[in-house]
Amino acid sequence: MSTEVRAPLGRLRELADGVHAFLQPPGGWCLSNAGVIAGPDGLVLIDTAATRSRAEALRAAAEGLGRGPVRTVVNTHSHGDHVFGNCVFAPPAAVIAHELTGPEMEATGMALTGLWPDVDWGELTLTPPTITFGRSLTLMTGDRPVELHHVGPAHSTNDVVVWIPDAGVLFTGDVALPGCTPFCLMGSVRGCLAALDRLRAFGARTVVGGHGQISGPEVFDETERYLRRILDLAGEGVAAGITPLETARQYGTGDFAGLIDPERLVGNLHRAFLEIRRPDLALGTEIDVPGVFGEMVQFNDGRLPTCLA
Ligand SMILES: [Zn+2]
Repeated sequence: MSTEVRAPLGRLRELADGVHAFLQPPGGWCLSNAGVIAGPDGLVLIDTAATRSRAEALRAAAEGLGRGPVRTVVNTHSHGDHVFGNCVFAPPAAVIAHELTGPEMEATGMALTGLWPDVDWGELTLTPPTITFGRSLTLMTGDRPVELHHVGPAHSTNDVVVWIPDAGVLFTGDVALPGCTPFCLMGSVRGCLAALDRLRAFGARTVVGGHGQISGPEVFDETERYLRRILDLAGEGVAAGITPLETARQYGTGDFAGLIDPERLVGNLHRAFLEIRRPDLALGTEIDVPGVFGEMVQFNDGRLPTCLA
């Protein structure tokens, strides 16, 4: 166990009748939010946290509602901070995700634990989805529809958002990160902009991002403003013949310095450079993630990005 400061375990906040967010402030690397939807025969979870102890805290909070056990887990995407806790619930819970989530989980394995070896990850078994879909799927919890929609590639290739129409609540996964720096290294900058338009169209009153505080739809505009700057800077960097890291150092975080995890600028520029230089490639195509992570450390003057999980 590291002596570094750790964020406290998460807590539930009720957003509408039977719809709760499990928040892990302040957000940032590996401190992901989750959702709990209580139906007549048990619970639907949205994401499962990064570490064993955080997933167990989520289970205790969710089951503490007294609305039955966790029957279904939805994963918003394949990244470890959203899926590592699956093993605490499944089996017996079913795990539902986009059809690319399982293959991406298998390909990446537990790599995230190697980026922050000091985190107390606990005993974790990679637990891929048992039910997958391509475009959309609707779960019925009693007579309440819970809609799952694939909106990637955006933050990843396999982003799924969860829309609860009667409650006006949208769980966006990491497509929106209120208070934190957007991150599309493993997805697509252009795809993220397209996804934001789809997210706006739901007309949500309450937005639960994959990390950070509860928000309203204004987070979509803030995210778009950030991403448009990324495209502008990448255009400048490509034209000047400099690298994404050099571009990040030259222009800095600008107006967005106050967002958590500012070093993501380097990763976002890498993706934007690729999309400008290679418009022939499919959005979300593979990129050297460990190499770019190393450059984010360089941008931070050699410090590992802050992970409070
Ligand atoms: Zn995340």
